[in-house]
Amino acid sequence: MSDIIKMGRVFWFEAAHHLPNHEGLCRSVHGHSYKLIIEVEGPVQPNFINPEAGMVMDYGRLKKVVTGLVLDRMDHAYLNDIFPNPTAENMVIYIATLLKHQLVPAILTKVELWETRNSYAKWESQK
Ligand SMILES: [Zn+2]
Repeated sequence: MSDIIKMGRVFWFEAAHHLPNHEGLCRSVHGHSYKLIIEVEGPVQPNFINPEAGMVMDYGRLKKVVTGLVLDRMDHAYLNDIFPNPTAENMVIYIATLLKHQLVPAILTKVELWETRNSYAKWESQK
């Protein structure tokens, strides 16, 4: 049995939102510098003809997929145009849905979204 390796990449984007049901400050429109961590897992690819030989997946391909599906939608966006209630929890579920089938042969294992330096939400694949 081959070893399963986890790997990932960190992304940053800026976006505005407000939480319509919130009773505190988040009810008003404001912005965040979001930190997004995407993690995948899989075996190291052995086939030497494959450009991803020796990798679970190429970091560059991971960057391209996440940029195309997530950052191009959310960076410098008003998140309420995408989500009725753009909490970090709702965002990680949505991001996982967008990416889940786009990273093969790697498997998406984690989507972690930091909304502030102290607060995050995390989606993890169910085993
Ligand atoms: Zn906020």
